[in-house]
Amino acid sequence: MKNLTQENVLEALRVVKDPDLFKDIVSLKFVKNISINGNDLSLDIELTTPACPVREELKAESEKAIRTNINVEKVEINMTSNVTSRQFATRPQILTGVRNTIAVASGKGGVGKSTVAVNLAIALKKEGASVGIVDCDIYGPSIPLMFDIKDKPHMHNQKLVPLEKYGIKVMSIGFLVDPMQAVIWRGPMASGAVKQFLTDVDWGELDYLIFDFPPGTGDIQLTIVQQIPLTGAVIVTTPQEISLADARKGLMMFNKVNVPILGIIENMSYYTCSHCGERENIFDFGGGKRAATEMNVPFLGEIPIDTKLRIGSDKGLPLVEAEPNSRQSLIISQIAKNLAAQVSIKNAESLNASTISISLDSIKSN
Ligand code: ADP
Repeated sequence: MKNLTQENVLEALRVVKDPDLFKDIVSLKFVKNISINGNDLSLDIELTTPACPVREELKAESEKAIRTNINVEKVEINMTSNVTSRQFATRPQILTGVRNTIAVASGKGGVGKSTVAVNLAIALKKEGASVGIVDCDIYGPSIPLMFDIKDKPHMHNQKLVPLEKYGIKVMSIGFLVDPMQAVIWRGPMASGAVKQFLTDVDWGELDYLIFDFPPGTGDIQLTIVQQIPLTGAVIVTTPQEISLADARKGLMMFNKVNVPILGIIENMSYYTCSHCGERENIFDFGGGKRAATEMNVPFLGEIPIDTKLRIGSDKGLPLVEAEPNSRQSLIISQIAKNLAAQVSIKNAESLNASTISISLDSIKSN
């Protein structure tokens, strides 16, 4: 058994590995504020997201590593977080207070993209993240309904202030124009409106800003993708082949403009009969996972068909807000954590890539 010193604590913690970032928590500089008082120890482990899927495991492993190696009485480990950002080749001049921007897209409409986007946003908020959502679905803005917001955003210092509900900052074209009017907009008007959401809205500081994309992979979607400095994109699909074919097109669109794919979410995966409990694969089975394997992108999880999810969207009280501990909500919360982990992974990769390119530059200039 070693003595309780800062060096020995760090040494002991080197066995604790972050399974997503493939490094130990000391090398990752997660261990902070080590404080020793006699035989008592307290320290912080600062993760890259409050929605870390292995938060409790890392805490337990760290305590075990300390107790098996060091002579210590009391061990207090505080799990904190400091959300990371993607390193872009040139630093974006817009959304400067927003750490991560996530596109939630689908190859076709009606697969539950907005429902998933809204519930993911609330799940991330419940884990302790600051979150906003932008309704880019110019032709069918459903976010005002899903949040039951009837107010209009006001201006402050010549910027639009997003409306806030359930702790989420919300902006939608539906707040500003009659949805029937937006339907007849031409491409440039639609993408111009989204651009304004990036430049003329005061988002403040946010960990995650989610963009609910218009369904499909046409020119409008591509123009919007090119306007937003995106951390990555999530594709929502249903399991059947007709939806998967379009999901693949969605993946290809983001690939074409070098937006990292954070993963595929399969919605309406199956239905469990509330009377007999039997599972029915209404739209086929396992298609989302197959597509993810085939395209070599992460599979974030499957969400069953559930009347409560539909009712939540219709009532403007999303299920994860209304019943955070329901089976459905726990499934969505796990998917939100998987998503947050992928964001951290992509951010770490972008940091490594930029460090490599900086050192290559310095070799060239020597
Ligand atoms: P999209 O954004 O892809 O067009 P929506 O999110 O508007 O799709 O969802 C379409 C309809 O399906 C809505 O009525 C919504 O409440 C419902 N819905 C979405 N996901 C589910 C689900 N897992 N279970 C039950 N109903 C769902």
